[in-house]
Amino acid sequence: MSALCARGRSGFSGCSRVLCAQLSTPPHQEQQAGTECGTTPVNLSAPEKVDNRAQLWSRYHEMKKLVYDLLPPGVCNLLNPATICANNEISLGEIEIYGFDYDYTLAQYSDMLHKKIFTTARDILIQQYKYPEGIRNYDYIPDFAIRGLHYDIEKNLLMKVDAFHYIQLGTAYRGLKPVPDEEVLDLYGGTPHIPLIEMSDFYGKVTIGPTMKQFMDIFSLPEMTLISCVTDFFISNGIDFDPVHLYKDTTDAIRDVHVKGMMYDWIEKDMEHYILHGEEVFAVLNRLVKHNKKLFLITNSPFSFVDKGMKHMVGKKWRDLFDVIIVRADKPAFFTDRRKPFRRLDESGSLQWDKINSLEKGKIYKQGNLFDFLRLTGWRGSRVLYFGDHLYSDLADLMLRHGWRTGAIVPELENEIRIINTEQYMHSLTWQQAVTGLLEQMQTYQDAESKQVLMEWMKERQELRSVTKNLFNPQFGSIFRTYHNPTYFSRRLIRFSDIYMASISSLLNYDINFTFYPRRTPLQHEAPLWMDQLCTGCMKTPFLDEMVHIR
Ligand SMILES: [Mg+2]
Repeated sequence: MSALCARGRSGFSGCSRVLCAQLSTPPHQEQQAGTECGTTPVNLSAPEKVDNRAQLWSRYHEMKKLVYDLLPPGVCNLLNPATICANNEISLGEIEIYGFDYDYTLAQYSDMLHKKIFTTARDILIQQYKYPEGIRNYDYIPDFAIRGLHYDIEKNLLMKVDAFHYIQLGTAYRGLKPVPDEEVLDLYGGTPHIPLIEMSDFYGKVTIGPTMKQFMDIFSLPEMTLISCVTDFFISNGIDFDPVHLYKDTTDAIRDVHVKGMMYDWIEKDMEHYILHGEEVFAVLNRLVKHNKKLFLITNSPFSFVDKGMKHMVGKKWRDLFDVIIVRADKPAFFTDRRKPFRRLDESGSLQWDKINSLEKGKIYKQGNLFDFLRLTGWRGSRVLYFGDHLYSDLADLMLRHGWRTGAIVPELENEIRIINTEQYMHSLTWQQAVTGLLEQMQTYQDAESKQVLMEWMKERQELRSVTKNLFNPQFGSIFRTYHNPTYFSRRLIRFSDIYMASISSLLNYDINFTFYPRRTPLQHEAPLWMDQLCTGCMKTPFLDEMVHIR
């Protein structure tokens, strides 16, 4: 049996198929088969009482031994956190033009930025919005929220929603405390399902009708935490408040931190601490230019901020690497609204009034729109690959309307893969899947004793699901999964990006002409005919040490 589980990437496939085979035949059917084949003596007298309970537990222990025996030592640590994952086949050899967003795409910021945004917005709430002094006792909680959560403004509930619009029970929080499942169900008419009409609009924003916002921005981590802390203060102190006001005031306070330039000031004054992996950004851009790729930048940030950051990461001559530079682009409107023409900025950052008839290398442009961009550059279709961290503001329109290829930067991926690589995760997930299989197969046992066993398994499964969820984040779990299903975030990620990765520097691990082939993972009605189908893209892409010659 161990031969089926040769170490390495293919080990799982063998294990999974053995598990499948073991699960596919309930014990009572095995018994009948044995009888028909004549391998068991036929007893024509009164049938012996079958101890279903003992049989079920026997199958359970067999399965447990199988799972642990078949997970070979070293099976963990299979995935490379610096991998690039493909949703769609894409050949870098066919990409002639590379575009980039700036914040959290080229410039990765350290987590200390979240703490600073939180503290500053909290103090704005106290000083300008006259919120109670007591909320100053709340400090930023780094691991409270995760990206992609939904927030029901009127019900004051922060929660994770899956790809089918179902709330993951156990992940609904009011303030800093979980809301019991029964209360959540009551609030939504007896179901954890959120009707489409109540969801946020296409870009995750709240429009006139819906009161549900999805937090997709990485900057929204301090925002979610601040809403939760202030709510906790009000509830703990028995203070009546309107959650709609709280949402608006908190959002405005966070926006003030951005719009009034405070955040830009902090970063500019301490780039060493705030900006991560600068030298790798230089290596990525330089390599692309050396291979005759065209580069452009479309960012919503102001030029002076981007200029300082790029000088820090890439050097004084960073502009020489780019063919077109657009700042204050106002994405996502940039991709859909034709009305704003490009304007040029001079070297001092002043707006020029001349009409823009071409986008020239070395010059800086502000605003504009994608339609003019396409007309002036001719950079259309699948020759262009654009990288951004915001699934809606950066990638959705490009994917759905314009046919550019898209790359999503998902910094959380690195930590999630590190967790997936742990032995604890591997064992609890595999055993959880095995228990799920046992439950599916043995549900035909309907006598009282068997039902009791099945209930115990159900309870164990639920505990295992919580254990695996909590490894990622004790409140909300992984950004990619709600127990079994993909999250709402994952669904959008798959829909709007051809490839995704933790950092732009992951590109350094791949040849300049590398083709990404997503694994053909089986659909629910398909059989895994080839072991490769059971592996994710991660497991097939090169490991850092194998590709070290490229860097
Ligand atoms: Mg960004």
